[in-house]
Amino acid sequence: MTRTVTLPFDHSMFRDQTAAYALGGLTTEERSEFEVHLSVCAECAAEVRSYAPVLTALAESAPQSDPPAALRNRVLAAVEGSSELARTSGRASRVAVVEKPGSRRAWAPWLLAAASLIAAVTVGAYSGRIRGQLAALEQQVRHVTERADASDRRVADLQAKLSQDRAVVVVLNASDLVRVDLAGQPVAPRATAHAFWSRSRGLVFTASSLPPLPAGRTYQLWVVTAQAPVGAGLLKPEVDGAAHAVFMTPADLAKPVAIALTIEPEGGVPAPTGDKYLVGLVN
Ligand SMILES: [Zn+2]
Repeated sequence: MTRTVTLPFDHSMFRDQTAAYALGGLTTEERSEFEVHLSVCAECAAEVRSYAPVLTALAESAPQSDPPAALRNRVLAAVEGSSELARTSGRASRVAVVEKPGSRRAWAPWLLAAASLIAAVTVGAYSGRIRGQLAALEQQVRHVTERADASDRRVADLQAKLSQDRAVVVVLNASDLVRVDLAGQPVAPRATAHAFWSRSRGLVFTASSLPPLPAGRTYQLWVVTAQAPVGAGLLKPEVDGAAHAVFMTPADLAKPVAIALTIEPEGGVPAPTGDKYLVGLVN
C-alpha cells in the first residue's frame, strides 16, 4: 500500500489510532490530526466512544490505587517507544514509501495490552483491598457475635436467677414451711446448710463451704422418710463452695425425718451410695 498524503478523511490512516487516542497515548501533533479526522469520520468517532466503558471501569475499579511506579514507568517507556515508531511511520507515509508491516498497526494492540496490564494490576490491588476490608468486617462480625452471645448468656443467667428467686419467695412464704438446719459431716466438717420445705410449694436449699466436687461426681440432695430416702435434686457448688437450689418434692411424699446431702456419680442415682456431707434432722 502506497500513500502520498495524509488527508483528514483518509480513514485508513487513522483507524488504528482510536485506541491510542482514547487511552491518551498520542502526541500532541498526532492528537490534533486525529481529532480533525474524528470530526469527519463517524466510524472512528464510534470506536473512540466504544472505549468509554473500559475507561470508566478502570476508573471505578481502583479509584484510590495507582499501579506500582516501576510498572507505570515500564508501561510509559514502552508507550513512548511505540510513539516513536508511530511518528517514524507517519513521516514515512508522507514521503510516499511503502509502509512496513507491523509498525503503525503494532501500536494499538500494544496499547490495549498495556491497558489490560494496568487494569489487571489495579483490579488486583482493588481486590486485595476488598479482601482486607472483608477480613476486617468478618472480625467485627465475630466480635459483635461474641458480645451478643455473652449478652444472651448473661440474660439467660439473670432469667434463671430471677426465676429461682421467685421460686424461693414462693416457698419461703408457704404457710406449711418447715426449716431444717444441716450440719457438716466428718468428710466436710466446715460445710453448713439450711433447707426450707413446703409440701405444697417445694424445697429451698442453701449451703456454704462445700468441698469441690471430684470430676464426674455431683452433690445429690435427699429427703429422708421413714420408708426411704427420696432424691430431691442435684447441685454443684460455686468455686467458693456455696450452693443454692429450689426443688419440687412429690406431693404424696411421706413425712420427712431428715434431709441429707451425698456425693454421687454424675447424673444422680435412685438411692444414695456415697458419703454423707451434710445431714439435718426434721423436728
Ligand atoms: Zn476514521
